[in-house]
Amino acid sequence: MDTVIVLFTRDLRVRDHPALAAACAQARRVVPLFVRDPAVPSGRRAAFLSDCLRDLRDSLRARGGDLLVRQGDTVAETMRLARETSATAVFMSADVSSLARRRRERFAREPIEVRHFPGVTVVPPGLLRPSGDGDHYRVFTPYWRAWSQAPRRQAAQTPRAVPTPEGLPAGPIPRGVPYGGIKGGETAARERMRAWTRRSLDDYAGLHDDLAGDGTSRLSPYLRFGCLSPLELAGYGNEDFVRQLCWRDFHHQVACAFPDLNRRDYRPRGTAWRSDKDAEQAWREGMTGVPIVDAGMRQLLAEGWMHNRARLITAAYLVKHLRVDWRVGYEHFFELLLDGDVANNAGNWQWVAGTGNDTRPNRTFNPLRQARRFDPEGEYVRRYVPELAGLPATLVHEPWLLTDGRTGAYPAPLTPL
Ligand code: FAD
Repeated sequence: MDTVIVLFTRDLRVRDHPALAAACAQARRVVPLFVRDPAVPSGRRAAFLSDCLRDLRDSLRARGGDLLVRQGDTVAETMRLARETSATAVFMSADVSSLARRRRERFAREPIEVRHFPGVTVVPPGLLRPSGDGDHYRVFTPYWRAWSQAPRRQAAQTPRAVPTPEGLPAGPIPRGVPYGGIKGGETAARERMRAWTRRSLDDYAGLHDDLAGDGTSRLSPYLRFGCLSPLELAGYGNEDFVRQLCWRDFHHQVACAFPDLNRRDYRPRGTAWRSDKDAEQAWREGMTGVPIVDAGMRQLLAEGWMHNRARLITAAYLVKHLRVDWRVGYEHFFELLLDGDVANNAGNWQWVAGTGNDTRPNRTFNPLRQARRFDPEGEYVRRYVPELAGLPATLVHEPWLLTDGRTGAYPAPLTPL
């Protein structure tokens, strides 16, 4: 092949990147491209994305190539560059969202060969099918069993040279408002991966649910943007940790089979949702009066990330206690989370709401019991709800009546409900 465009989307790395590796092995000239497409909502992830693009550009330049950045409609911009460079093919990673699916359909109508490669998940969505009926797994445990035994592809070689033609304008990397205090990019991701696997991987099972201990990897934003290869991470072998990566794959294969996962109930249960704008707003701001819920929501506002246990508690509070539609929660999380993505976010929201893949759809999370169990000293609550900093562990989780929530007097009055 003469010239191939490698279209980067949410796979912003050079290591174990099957599409990039194949292009470098098969083409004489390789044109790495990223299109900042206004149709792809980035929430508050824009600054993190900028870091990722800068780091990717540095890595490609260190290999003699470059990352071209364009702004506009992904398909139109790719085709424009294809004409400019006389590229005959586009190589890219396969993805599952409805947006990715539409892009794929549009590319299919263009006069260019488009090849899709694995790399966004450990096992490609759609590869594993349950025996009997169905094109995807609806329940996690059988999927986990099949997934654990599924053959894995070989990690792709990191290209030593990326032969990008000269004279093409690189294009500015879009900026974003810094948020969450975490640096994006493959380099930062690998530093975090190395440090965390050395320090905490062995203790993962014990630390996983400890809210104050904060012992999970916090690699999710890097996985979201593909700064790390999930296949490489799954090679670390700690079963409890690898199981979490399998959950990620699980939700992706559900989203692949049910592309409306972020809009429609996967299993409609006829729930009558309530509309309560004040309650929704108090939930968003971390002013519900339930300390463990407020701590989680404020961690999200401050860091663009929330501990998984807190996500479960805050989500269950919204859908099971306030009985507000899970889509309200999904939208808020999607806007704020640095790891916010369609499959994991919608899959988990629907799981909690009982409209998704939980085999126990009526499961509830009592916030008080959860708080006492997973934050027994109240350290997590005190960290994110400073109004409660002086309270002893015996009181810190008590729900408070927020008569003056709007002006931020919390707790006011100091009366446990
Ligand atoms: P670790 O415990 O270190 O796990 C390693 C990796 O496994 C994570 O980085 C993540 O990629 C994956 N993982 C772990 N738990 C899950 C899970 N339950 N489902 C899918 N993948 C998982 N995760 C997202 O990546 N994006 C989201 O938008 C998202 N929205 C969520 C919404 C709700 C309501 C809930 C309950 C969970 C959501 N999760 C989401 C899943 C999970 O909370 C986060 O992946 C996890 O907290 C990220 O922290 P970590 O990297 O330290 O995880």
